Amino acid sequence: MLGAGSLGGLWATRLFRAGVPLHLILRNPKRLAEYHAAGGLELLENGTSRLYPIPAELPEATTPIERLLVACKAYDAEAAVAEVAPRLTKHSEILLLQNGLGSQQAIAARWPESRCIFISSTEGAYREVGFRIVHAGLGHNWLGDPGNRQPPPWLAELNLADIPYRWAEDIMGKLWRKLAINCAINPLSVLNDCHNGELSNQPEPLHKLCCELSEVLRACDQMDAADGLEAEVLRIIEATAQNFSSMHQDVQNGRRTEVSFLLGQACRAARQHGLATPELCELLDRLQALLRRHGLPDD
Ligand code: NAP
Repeated sequence: MLGAGSLGGLWATRLFRAGVPLHLILRNPKRLAEYHAAGGLELLENGTSRLYPIPAELPEATTPIERLLVACKAYDAEAAVAEVAPRLTKHSEILLLQNGLGSQQAIAARWPESRCIFISSTEGAYREVGFRIVHAGLGHNWLGDPGNRQPPPWLAELNLADIPYRWAEDIMGKLWRKLAINCAINPLSVLNDCHNGELSNQPEPLHKLCCELSEVLRACDQMDAADGLEAEVLRIIEATAQNFSSMHQDVQNGRRTEVSFLLGQACRAARQHGLATPELCELLDRLQALLRRHGLPDD
């Protein structure tokens, strides 16, 4: 498990307690020492907390890696995989848990001998402090391989670990749909500094964004992902009315966002297909200006 943060920690603790052999790969000796001092990864779930002493190592360890789960942020993922790439076995698998799109394709193209499985997750986890992870929201995980519809034989291990999942033959559709929903809700919630629910007061901008996003999805051959997008965006706004979006939380906490792999990716795809998307472009400009004002990277 490369990236033992919120989502990586949630996956790692559940796999470990189900008896699946697993090592955490921590970024440097300082993080490894901090991890050993903590005694393991702690998971707080349903009001109960437990410590899991999962073995951990550095990227430069020499044991071969047959299956690599990557749970870094999208902007860190490719460089993190590069650090352990010499250890990947010839027919290794790389499981990619990143939100948005772009990082998965870059990794799949750079390590073509490995089978890359893309994962779209709606589970929720956050790091309270150090290596203590809170399982904050129930959700689901879709796994799929755009180049090979056959599920891998080890999928049942996820049942043992109580990780809710389904094999998705159309994983790109799932990832594009989630990306589009994120593009409609998250930037506006940051720019208006509001809970998701307050966006229901802005039907006009939401409508224009959803129209452009549907066009981008259709241009990318994602017809199913384009279908009923606006209705789902409105449903999610209502269902998560009291929540702050993940991008809002990132900005609020002074953390880098994954904008380049979300709204940035939608704008790049529109450009590649020669589509004019003035609403999306203006939204990206305003969001990037806000990020710079907050002293955060705008990519
Ligand atoms: P996170 O809590 O920030 O965890 C990322 C982890 O990656 C950190 O532990 C970080 O190490 C580690 N890392 C970065 N570079 C590394 C390197 N070179 N070597 C080893 N470790 C490295 O992020 P997250 O919330 O889990 O998000 C991960 C991905 O999952 C994102 O794409 C996110 O959008 C997606 N996602 C998250 C959730 C969620 O609920 N959290 C839900 C759905 C999707 P340090 O601890 O040393 O900083």
